[in-house]
Amino acid sequence: MTDLAKRDARVAWHPYTQHGLESEFLPVVGARGSRLELADGRSLIDAISSWWTCLHGHGHPRLVEALRSQAERLDHVLFAGATHEPAVRLAERLVELAPPGLARVFYSDDGSTAVEVALKIALQSARNRGERERRVFVALEGAYHGDTFGAMAVGEREPFFAAFDELLFAVEHVPVDAAAVDAALRRLGGRAAGVIVEPLVQGAAGMRMHSAEFLRGVRRACDVAHVPLIADEVFTGFGRTGSLFACAKAGIAPDLMCVAKGLTGGMLPLAATLASESLFGDFRSNQRSHALFHGHSFTANPIGCAVALASLELVLETDVPRRLEALGAKIERRLRAPNVRRTGGVVAFDLPGDPSYGSDRSLALRRRALELGVLLRPLGNVVYAVPPASTTDEDGERIADAMNALLESAP
Ligand SMILES: *Cc1c(COP(=O)(O)O)cnc(C)c1O
Repeated sequence: MTDLAKRDARVAWHPYTQHGLESEFLPVVGARGSRLELADGRSLIDAISSWWTCLHGHGHPRLVEALRSQAERLDHVLFAGATHEPAVRLAERLVELAPPGLARVFYSDDGSTAVEVALKIALQSARNRGERERRVFVALEGAYHGDTFGAMAVGEREPFFAAFDELLFAVEHVPVDAAAVDAALRRLGGRAAGVIVEPLVQGAAGMRMHSAEFLRGVRRACDVAHVPLIADEVFTGFGRTGSLFACAKAGIAPDLMCVAKGLTGGMLPLAATLASESLFGDFRSNQRSHALFHGHSFTANPIGCAVALASLELVLETDVPRRLEALGAKIERRLRAPNVRRTGGVVAFDLPGDPSYGSDRSLALRRRALELGVLLRPLGNVVYAVPPASTTDEDGERIADAMNALLESAP
């Protein structure tokens, strides 16, 4: 073990990690473009964009410059009773670029908090209108919306959240089928609080993909039931699906939209929940108790907002959605699996058998990919790639070759 590995083993606690089974952690000393540089000199291709965050490639000079110059001017200030240019400008840009009807931006820190805020807005807007019975969300089977309590509640409980199951509020989980969503809303009637979906791709469920028709059906069902549709674009936002937002690609406009991961291009933690003017209006009154009592220490952090603005301009200037679409198509063409599926820059296939998340076999798959110089993290039996837009053709080929090698190593 290296010195760093020994020190890590004494003090660090890693996410989604069984320390009893996993004790080797990659010593990363730098990152550029689609590559991670390790302490021993190896260079790895980051084929999963460091948990789906890194959009343009690591260390993009425009983002580094935005970070540096904003840090010199204004590092942080509270966002209650104060405002600043980066937060306002970013909100203006998000509202301009988001699907129609989203008019207000509430900032938080990560995908989970963006989802918490959306759920709280849906619940309290109903309460502020006097509809106190609206307390039950409809969510999809296989959903993943984050790791905080509200986000866990609307997510699929097994296998990740079994330890907390009985503490999570009740949610109607339905199959990915517009008729099932509609039926659940009818059953709930005046108790329905809203519907939450990951549009087009359910990421953590194993890159499960669904049609635009499904989403249009859900939109209609929400309209009939008069409940907000929450689009969790934490993963799909900013070009991953080949469109700036999955909702736009599907031709729907949600009432609430959560963005995080790619918002800063993957450089800093920052998230936003976009809401319709009508939902905002349910909070605006002369009654203090109608206010949204939610806020984090680092709400609208100026450095995060400045980097997000730089990233957003880069997304548009360099046409990240189109580049990710082309990259995804290239990887797809080279894959030899019989059951490849793809939406934009998200490419996946299922291995035969069913290694569970974090099992010996899934660790072995990760190790095999690392031997080939590619960082992959299969979700159970699902092998997938979500590379950053700067990935070269050659690295794209190496990603596909590593994915093929996992297929061939399957029993
Ligand atoms: C990653 C993810 C989240 C949670 O985001 P964090 O930043 O990890 O809290 C929520 N929803 C979706 C769809 C995600 O992929």
